[in-house]
Amino acid sequence: MSMRNVNQVISKMTPPVEEARRRSASDYRFGKVLGEGSFSTVYLAKDIHTSKEYAIKVLEKAHIIREKKTEYVMREKEVLRILGSSCPYFVRLYWTFQDPEHLYFVLTYAKNGELLKQIDKCGCFTIDCARYYTAEMVLALEYLHGKGIVHRDLKPENVLFDDNWHILITDFGSAKILKTDNTEKCDNDTLDKGDRKRRNSFVGTAQFVSPEMLSESSSSHASDLWALGCILYQMVSGMMPFRGRSEFLIFQKILNLEYEYPEGFDPQAKDLVQKLLVIAPNERLGAMDQTTYTSIRQHELFKDLNWDDLGPPPKISDICDSIKDIAIPDDVEPGLDKEKASRLQLDLVPTPTRKKSQLVKKITDLTAAEIEQKLEAQKTNIYNSFVEGNLILKQGMIDKKKGLFARRRMFLLTLGPHLYYVDPVAMVLKGEIPWSEDLRTEAKNFKIFFIHTPNRKYYLEDPEGYALQWCKAIDEVKAYYYPEQV
Ligand code: ATP
Repeated sequence: MSMRNVNQVISKMTPPVEEARRRSASDYRFGKVLGEGSFSTVYLAKDIHTSKEYAIKVLEKAHIIREKKTEYVMREKEVLRILGSSCPYFVRLYWTFQDPEHLYFVLTYAKNGELLKQIDKCGCFTIDCARYYTAEMVLALEYLHGKGIVHRDLKPENVLFDDNWHILITDFGSAKILKTDNTEKCDNDTLDKGDRKRRNSFVGTAQFVSPEMLSESSSSHASDLWALGCILYQMVSGMMPFRGRSEFLIFQKILNLEYEYPEGFDPQAKDLVQKLLVIAPNERLGAMDQTTYTSIRQHELFKDLNWDDLGPPPKISDICDSIKDIAIPDDVEPGLDKEKASRLQLDLVPTPTRKKSQLVKKITDLTAAEIEQKLEAQKTNIYNSFVEGNLILKQGMIDKKKGLFARRRMFLLTLGPHLYYVDPVAMVLKGEIPWSEDLRTEAKNFKIFFIHTPNRKYYLEDPEGYALQWCKAIDEVKAYYYPEQV
């Protein structure tokens, strides 16, 4: 498809409701890069007229054409248009506009980032949290499926959080839109089959793809219920249910329903996961329900939940950082030119600013009562069994490098002091970085840091870019146990 055709296609697409007045990049001050997709960059931006913050997804037309993604982009826009603004659990598309080189999607800003990042940072969710967010996802799926749309790529990266910690489902490029007259499906499975041949791939993401999408290239609303089961499993355990060294091995496991529950997995959550991760799509819990997922709503996990008002979300975890304030100064020039885009790109690593009170309070500033309370709460943490009764002060996935290889480990910084690391797939304690008064941290950048011990230098990389926070936390623990050394 030529550039001219892309322009025509894009302009033919129905404009979103609020596109009454023509918009352009110069209506926004562009700030930090929030993230990058395979053919898009998402910026935090502020409307110069209202000061309201948005996430603006910028797509390069030439790149879309090269990668043959026009269909994907059109589908994303069309789904967002259909979803509109009636359901709070979806990212909303406010405006779209274009310039000769780019397409712009002005979207709800999900201030608290991805569900995946929260799971990785906290290790896993409390059962209250997992229950709450599963319930929000059930409500979101009722709305989505009621509109005749199947997401087909539901996963923790595509579930974002707004400033009040409610979910915002995003990324509808792989969605399937069924025809609304109920007579025939607008089956873009067919389209995807062609696509699949070309890419030798499938719609969705390996670990969350449903068996029918793999074996028959077919999908329905029940495929999203499968993904819901995978996400619930991951929130409760911190791990994906189907893991493997290659996509092939993951697919084998999915098709054979080969997965296990780690010790301590909440029994009610396990029962729901088991009823969602069923090979036959029609036999998944909820698959035969009409309009509302009554059979899911009635599951024991949601026993005392008021589905008409879920109430405020439970705090994800005491050990998780919350909102990153990344304000855009008012003296930033509106618009986005090449020079500004590359400058913002350089600032890609997260630079969370902390409130003054957070800076002053140390990780070790805990009263005996607080320690006792946190130890009690820690009992539901699946990594509790590895820390020998010590209080976890900070935990998170870190890539531990040895020679040419890096292994992802769950690091657990505890009182004691201890710094344990666990293989999160095998759920085996792999070791401990030995503490002594000579232990020393060194941050190389936002991602990479070293821990020096008398006998070894540990090369560590925080994939989320919180290396500085790790060094700070370790230094505080050191100052607490070896005050004269600091
Ligand atoms: P791909 O297109 O390769 O599947 P993607 O769907 O994640 O990737 P984008 O939708 O462009 O690509 O998003 C890129 C990143 O930007 C996301 O990983 C997310 O962290 C961030 N992001 C996307 N939308 C928003 C939003 N509305 N608010 C805040 N951050 C967002």
